[in-house]
Amino acid sequence: MDCLFCKIINREIPADIVYEDDEVLAFNDINPQAPTHVLIIPKQHIATLNDIEEHQLATVGRLQYTAARLAKDYGFAEGGYRVVMNCNEDGGQTVYHIHMHLMGGRRFTWPAG
Ligand code: 5GP
Repeated sequence: MDCLFCKIINREIPADIVYEDDEVLAFNDINPQAPTHVLIIPKQHIATLNDIEEHQLATVGRLQYTAARLAKDYGFAEGGYRVVMNCNEDGGQTVYHIHMHLMGGRRFTWPAG
C-alpha cells in the first residue's frame, strides 16, 4: 500500500519514534508547529476519520490515551496542550492514514486557522 505512515510503521521510511506498542506508533512531526509536535497513529491503516469502523474503536481510543500519557511524560499535561485530527481536504488532512497531532510546550489560541 502506498501510504507514507504505513511505510514509517514498516521502517521503510525513517522517523524519530517516541513511543510504540502493539496498536499505535508515535513519532515527531517533520514540520513541528510547537516545541513538541508528535503524530500518533494506529498501526492498522485507516484512511480518514470517516472510515473508522466500530471494531476499531478501542484502537482509536488508544490514540487519545497515548496522547495524554505522552503529555504527562513531556511535562505539559497539567499546563495544557492541543490534540488535533484533521479530516479530508477542507479539514487540512494531507496524509491519508489517520493521525492525532499532539502539540505542547507553548500556549495555543482558538479558533484554529
Ligand atoms: P495532516 O495535515 O494530514 O493533518 O498532518 C500530516 C502531518 O504529517 C504534517 O504535520 C506533516 O508535517 C507530517 N509529515 C508529512 N510527511 C512526514 C514525514 O515524512 N515524516 C514525518 N515525521 N512527518 C511527516
